[in-house]
Amino acid sequence: MTDSQAPVQDAAPAAAGGNPVFTAPAGTRTAADVVTPELVARLTRGVSGSGVTANHTPFGGDRLAELPESTPEDVAEAVARARTAQRSWAALSPRRRAAVLLRFHDLVLARQSEVLDLVQLETGKTRLHAHEEVQIAAISARHYGRKAPSYLRPRRRTGAVPVLTKVTELRQPRGVIGMITPWNYPLALSVGDALPAFAAGNAVVMKPDTETALTALWARRLLIEAGLPEELWQIVLGDGPVVGPAVAAHADYISFTGSTPTGREVARNAADRLIGCSLELGGKNAMIVLRDADLDKAADGAVRACFPSAGQLCIAAERLYVHESVADDFLERFAARARALRLGTALAYGADMGSLASERQLATVRRHVDEAVEKGATLVTGGRHRPDVGPFFYEPTILDGVREPMAVCTEETFGPVVSVYRFTDEDEAVELANATDYGLNSSVWTRDGRRGRALGARLCTGSVNVNESYAAGYGSVQAPMGGMGQSGIGRRNGAEGILKYTEAQTVAQQRIMPLAPSFGLDDEKYAAFMSLSLRVMKAARLR
Ligand code: NAD
Repeated sequence: MTDSQAPVQDAAPAAAGGNPVFTAPAGTRTAADVVTPELVARLTRGVSGSGVTANHTPFGGDRLAELPESTPEDVAEAVARARTAQRSWAALSPRRRAAVLLRFHDLVLARQSEVLDLVQLETGKTRLHAHEEVQIAAISARHYGRKAPSYLRPRRRTGAVPVLTKVTELRQPRGVIGMITPWNYPLALSVGDALPAFAAGNAVVMKPDTETALTALWARRLLIEAGLPEELWQIVLGDGPVVGPAVAAHADYISFTGSTPTGREVARNAADRLIGCSLELGGKNAMIVLRDADLDKAADGAVRACFPSAGQLCIAAERLYVHESVADDFLERFAARARALRLGTALAYGADMGSLASERQLATVRRHVDEAVEKGATLVTGGRHRPDVGPFFYEPTILDGVREPMAVCTEETFGPVVSVYRFTDEDEAVELANATDYGLNSSVWTRDGRRGRALGARLCTGSVNVNESYAAGYGSVQAPMGGMGQSGIGRRNGAEGILKYTEAQTVAQQRIMPLAPSFGLDDEKYAAFMSLSLRVMKAARLR
């Protein structure tokens, strides 16, 4: 790595009053210390790819690693290898498979500094935001490590005629799960969804975003160290529109996380082959501050809601609804906190907000903010590109006076930009929050928990957090997480997060007499016997 590629730590703010810059402590590692040729060779071993591609760090825009690029033929071979490995994996008991997850849990916590460096370098986020991903990986490993055997347990069901019919519901693995994942949470979204798929007895062929492939490859290596058979998790790399459909062409189920337009294409591919899919898509999430909210807590919460990973989080808030009686007071507290956030590129704890991930993200953010300001919105704070910190840095930005048809009002920005709106009563807050095609996440801030939960139940989002931004819902792994409306189909986490990777199979054994006229009963007598049996079953409160 040359000096020009080293993270910039000491730059002064580009403009007076801009967000301060966090300076790296002496001795902090650089990209060259972390992404060594030996590491890349170790992580890419076994990856099917006859071409060459590369990824880059948003911190300097420079190349991080040269990586194998997969053709559709490479994908087909990867699926075939995964399919072979899956047969013996599925033959192990759920408990044996779950034990690998529990070992992974310990390993990911013990070796977290390795992956924190990779996540930071590949995504541009701060170390604290990267640590959220480690937490999600560990939580998912613990949950499915402990609970998968009971989720998958064969279950007795009431037979057509009790005693005569014995029924068991089994959960069979689907086979090879195709997973297509985005760049914004490369550890959480690769491992978090792959772990339940493995626990259920499947193989996985994953196409992560190339820009964050090292993180997924690292997770794969660690899971192999924890005991996963080498061929069970295949990773293929390359252009989304080429490699993604190739995965969908061979897999038995598709788990997709990404944007709503791409999700629709993935669903069309799945429909062509009549395979199932789950889609975790975009959002335009609302945060609602009621008049009785603790305004300091709500202002702290708004920072956590709007600026995690520089706003590049599907469940981050981009619309902030505040009761008109407290709006000015709240906004003052929120803006003061946003202005104080320290921007930085160090592979160390201390910075509050990192970089946008790419030129493309920066362009969207600038387009949304510039258009809003041109059309009359007010910049409360932020609104500036900060190339002095890194090529894609943009300040945490609060907009007031936003209205349709400004793009920032309705489209997902996926950046550190939030618009503030005022409401007069709770019905109006609910109506405004629900006035979107998306339905991923929301939060309600109030001193009255019961009131917050009741209002939350009226919001059309897959998760609602009361007095927390998103982490309370997402971190509660026993409960499902996913989107309503254009934010997706299906759920991750909890029972749904693992059962979607299985096929339900009913095994029904008939005993003593068939479900047909027999023992000398003619058709009419058999019909009368069955009618009587049905009446008895209802009277006996059979379900
Ligand atoms: P994207 O849709 O552009 O890409 C996602 C993945 O799909 C990438 O791996 C990409 O290479 C691949 N891909 C691209 N074209 C494809 C095609 N035609 N067929 C199959 N695969 C294809 O999304 P992105 O920009 O990488 O990610 C950001 C989006 O993801 C945002 O909208 C965000 O809200 C969403 N997201 C949702 C969740 C969630 O849990 N709901 C989580 C993270 C991100």
